[in-house]
Amino acid sequence: MTKTTTLTTAQTTHGFLLEREERIAELSATARIYRHEKTGARLLSLESPDENKVFGVAFRTPPMDSTGLPHILEHSVLCGSRKFPVKEPFVELIKGSLNTFLNALTFPDKTCYPVASANLQDFYNLVDVYLDAVFFPRLTENTLKQEGWHYDVEDAAAPLALKGVVFNEMKGVYSSPDSLLAEYSQRALFPDVCYGLDSGGDPERIPDLTFAQFMDYHRRLYHPANAYAFFSGDDDPEKRLALLDEYFSQFDAPAAPPDSAIGLQPPFAAPRRLVHYYAADSADSDDALETGEARDDAPASGEAAPETGEARETARAMCTVNFGLPQIAGAAGGPDLDLALGVLEHALIGLPSSPLRKALVDSGLGEDLAGGGLETDLKQLAFSVGLKGMPAATAESSSDAVEQLVLCTLRQLAEGGLHPDDIGAAMNSVEFDLRENNTGSYPRGLALFFEALSTWLYDADPLELLPFEGPLARLKARLARGERVFEDLIRAHFLDNPHRALVLLLPDPGLGARREAAEEARLAAVRAKLSDADMRRLAEETRTLRALQEAPDAPEDLAKIPRLKLSDLPRENARIPHEKLAAAGAPLFAHALPTSGVVYLDLALDLSAVPDALIPLTPILGRALFEMGTKKTPFVDLSRRIAMTTGGLWAQTFVSSVRGERGQGPDAAAQRLLLRGKATRENLAALTGLMAEVLLEPDFSDAGRLGKIILETKARREQRLIPAGHTLAATRLKARFGVAQAMNEAMQGLSGLTFVRELAGRMESNPQGVRRDLETLLGFLLSRRGLVLNITAEGPDIQAALPLLEGLAASLPDAAIIPARRGIPDLPEREGLCLPAQVNYVAAGGNARLRGQEPGAAAAVAAKFLRAGYLWERVRVQGGAYGASCAYSRLSGNLVFASYRDPNLGRTLEAFKGVGPHLTGLTIDPAELEKSIIGAVGDLDHYMLPDAKGFTALARELTGEDEAYRQAAREAVLGATAADFAAFGRAVDAVLEDGPVVIAGGREALEKSDLGLTLSKVL
Ligand SMILES: [Zn+2]
Repeated sequence: MTKTTTLTTAQTTHGFLLEREERIAELSATARIYRHEKTGARLLSLESPDENKVFGVAFRTPPMDSTGLPHILEHSVLCGSRKFPVKEPFVELIKGSLNTFLNALTFPDKTCYPVASANLQDFYNLVDVYLDAVFFPRLTENTLKQEGWHYDVEDAAAPLALKGVVFNEMKGVYSSPDSLLAEYSQRALFPDVCYGLDSGGDPERIPDLTFAQFMDYHRRLYHPANAYAFFSGDDDPEKRLALLDEYFSQFDAPAAPPDSAIGLQPPFAAPRRLVHYYAADSADSDDALETGEARDDAPASGEAAPETGEARETARAMCTVNFGLPQIAGAAGGPDLDLALGVLEHALIGLPSSPLRKALVDSGLGEDLAGGGLETDLKQLAFSVGLKGMPAATAESSSDAVEQLVLCTLRQLAEGGLHPDDIGAAMNSVEFDLRENNTGSYPRGLALFFEALSTWLYDADPLELLPFEGPLARLKARLARGERVFEDLIRAHFLDNPHRALVLLLPDPGLGARREAAEEARLAAVRAKLSDADMRRLAEETRTLRALQEAPDAPEDLAKIPRLKLSDLPRENARIPHEKLAAAGAPLFAHALPTSGVVYLDLALDLSAVPDALIPLTPILGRALFEMGTKKTPFVDLSRRIAMTTGGLWAQTFVSSVRGERGQGPDAAAQRLLLRGKATRENLAALTGLMAEVLLEPDFSDAGRLGKIILETKARREQRLIPAGHTLAATRLKARFGVAQAMNEAMQGLSGLTFVRELAGRMESNPQGVRRDLETLLGFLLSRRGLVLNITAEGPDIQAALPLLEGLAASLPDAAIIPARRGIPDLPEREGLCLPAQVNYVAAGGNARLRGQEPGAAAAVAAKFLRAGYLWERVRVQGGAYGASCAYSRLSGNLVFASYRDPNLGRTLEAFKGVGPHLTGLTIDPAELEKSIIGAVGDLDHYMLPDAKGFTALARELTGEDEAYRQAAREAVLGATAADFAAFGRAVDAVLEDGPVVIAGGREALEKSDLGLTLSKVL
C-alpha cells in the first residue's frame, strides 16, 4: 500500500471508522474515537490497565413535556428484550452476576445504561444483555402500565386508582423538599429549553403519557444514530467494536438525524424571582398523640413524644440564588474555564471557612447551606447556592436578604480579592482530587464516561475535559503571575450577569391534601365518562396485568440470560495486604497498596468508657474537632491549613456488633470514633500534626460556631429523613435488638435527631454546659490504651510513616478505660413515625439468634434470592413500592425487612410474613440457586479502591472477622443448598411471628392503619 492510499482510504474495523486516537497520560489511558459507518453511532474507547471494566451506552433524550417519558422508558427497556424474553432481565442479571455497577440513569437531557465488572466473561454477559435491552426491548402497553402508570381497578364496582412504578417513585421525589428545590432551581434558569421540564416525571403529568408517544420516542431516540457508546478498562479493544457492530449493523441510518438537539437558553435581561411550595405536614403534634393508638401503659423512653411547638419549628422554608453560566462544551478555552470555575466553587463554598458559605451560615437567616453549587452536567453550566431551614413566616424577606448577601459577599471578594490561603486551599483540594481520582464505590471508568458526555452530548470533543495537567499548569501560571483570575470570574459570571433567578420554596400545610384531592377529582372525572362496559374492561386489564406480573418466566427463557458458572468463581477470598504492627503500644494495622503516593490514615478512638447519656453527642464532637479551631489555631486558619496540606480530614462513628462466636452476647459492640485523613506522602507530617493538635488542644469556646454546627447537623438529618425513610425505620427497629444497634440509633437515628434538636435549644440557654459536655466526652476518648491506628499506603511510605505514628500515639495519655454500662431502650412494639410523605417505609424483623435460630453465612444467598425474586415481585411489581430489602447480619443475628417508597403498609407486612412459608415450602430450581450464590459471592467480592480496602481491613479487625471466619463464610455461601433456604425461612418465621414493626410514612396512612401503631411526629 502506498503512502497516499493509507492517507486517503479510511480503514474500518467491524464497521467502525477510527476518527482520532490520543494518549491521555494522566489517566494512563489511550483514547480512540470512532464512528459507526452505517448508522453514525459514536464510540469512545478507552484502553487502560483498570481491571474494573466499564461499558455504557447513552442516548440524548431531552423531554418534550413533564410526563416522565425518558424516565419511564429507562425503566421499561429493562423489562425484557428480543434475545432475552423474560420479565426482568435486569433482575436476573443482578441475581447472578459479579457486576461492580449495574444501573440505568435518567438525567435532564440523557439516559445512560452503564455496567461494570472486573470479571471478563461477566462483563461480556452484561454488555450483551444491555445492548439487546436498549435496542430491541419488548415494549407493550402492559410495560407502560407497569412501569409508568395505569388505572388500577379491582372490579367493575370499585373506584379507580392510579398505579405504576415511576408514578410512585416520583411521588416520593416530590415529597422531598430538597429534591423539589433542586428541580425548581434548574427550571428557573432554563425555562425555555428542555431543562425547564422534568425528565423524571411530575406525578400530576405522568398520567397524560400515551402509549403512542412512548413507542414513538423509543423508535426515534433509541437508535444508534442517537447513541453514545463507551468502553474503558483492560479488555480487548477490538472485541468492543465487534460486540457493538453486531447490534448497530441491524439498523439503517435514519433519513434525517434524530431530533434530539438541546437548545441554549436565551440569557435573561433581568434577574427573576420565583416562589414554589412543598407539602408540609398539616397535623399538629398534640393531635397526633391523641389520635394515635394506645401507647404502652408505662411511659416509653419519652422520645416518642416530641415537644409541642415542633410542628411550627419544622415547617421551614428554603431558597437558592441561581446563576446561568456559559456553555463550556466546544467553547474556546473551555477546559481552562471549567477548571477555574471548579476551583472558584471550592474557594467560595468548599470549606466551613470559605467566605460565601461562612457569610450565609453566619447570617443566621437559615440553618444550613442549600443549592448544589456548580452544576456541570447540563449544556450550560449553572451555580446554585442558598439557605435551608429558614423560618417560614419571614421567608419572603429573608430570601431577599439571602440574595443581597450573596451578591454583596461576591462584590467584596471581587473588589478586595480572595484571601490567598482560600485560593491555595481550593487549588490544593481540587488538584488532590484530580490526582487521587477516588471515585469511591463508583467505577473510575464510569466517572470518565460521564465526564466525556458533559461535552460529547453537545456535539463537542468527548476528550475535551479529560486531560487535566494542561489546564492545571496554565491556571497555576496565571496565579503565579498575579492575575486576578477568580475576581475576574466573579465579576463576569456572577456580578455582571443578569441571568439569575431567586427560588423560594415555602411549606404549604394544605398542599398534600390538595394534591390528593386533585388526584381524586381527576379520577372521578375519568370515572364519570366511563360506561359499565369500560369499567369491566379496565378491571379485566388490571387482572391481565397482574396475571402477567405473577406468571413465572419459562425456564428455557430464563436460561437464555448469560451467566457465570460456579466454577468461574474464585474459591478463596481475596486478601487485603495486612500487617500487624504497633505504635507506642497501640495496635497499628498497615496495608501496602498502590495509592499513587497518597497516605490514608485512620485513628480509632474507643467509645467504651463514654456513658450512654453522652453517646449521642459523639457525631457533634467529631465535627467540632475539625470545624472549631484549636487553642493555637483559629477556626478559619485551621480549616485552610487542612485544605492546603491534606486531601481531607474528617470524623466518622463506627459501631458494630462483633463476631458472635467470640462468646459475646448482643451487648458486645465495637464502638469507635474514627478520625480519618489523607495526604500526599510529603504532607504526612502535617496530617499527623493536625490530628494531634485537634485532639490535644481543642477549643470549643466559640458558642456561635458550635451553635451553627449543631443547627447544620439538625438540618442535614431532617433532610435525609424522607429520602432515607427506610433507614430511619430500620435503624429504629434494630435499636431494640442489641447494644451496637441502640448506640447507632442514639447517634444517627430518631433518638439522635431528637437529641440534636434539644441540643440546639440548650445552645440558646446553656452553651457553657454543651461545651463542658464536649470536653467531658473527649476526655473519655483520649487514651492510647483504647487506640487503634490504621495506615494504607505504598510500602516504603508505610515504613517512613512509622516514627510519625509512634509520636502521634505516644502523645495521647496512658489512661485506663473503664467500660460504661450500656442499656437498650424500651420502645413500643409497633411504631409509626409520621413524615410529610406520600409514601411509606415499612420495617419488620428481629434477632434470629435470640430466637434460637442460626441461619449462618448461607443466609446471604437466601436473602439475595428473596430480594431479586419473591420480594421484588410481591412488594415492587405487585405492591407498587420502589423496592424492598432483606438483610441478615451474621455478626449480630439481626434479620430485617424494609420496603422503600411504598404505597402500602399492612399488605407489605403480609408479604414479609409470607417469606417463611415461601422458603420452607420451596423446591428451588438448581439454576436459580446457582444464580443466587453467584450474586452473593459478588457482594462478598465487591470492588474496592485502595483506601476502601484499607478501611475494610480495619473494620474486620474491629469486629473480629478474621480470614478463617471469612473463608468459612465463603464456603458456606458457595455450598448453599435448599436446606439453608429452609433454615432461613424458619428464622424469618421466628422473628416475624410477634416481632416489632416500625413504619415511617404519611400521617394519614399511619392513622388509618389497623396495625396498632404508636404514632410519633418526626417531621
Ligand atoms: Zn426510576
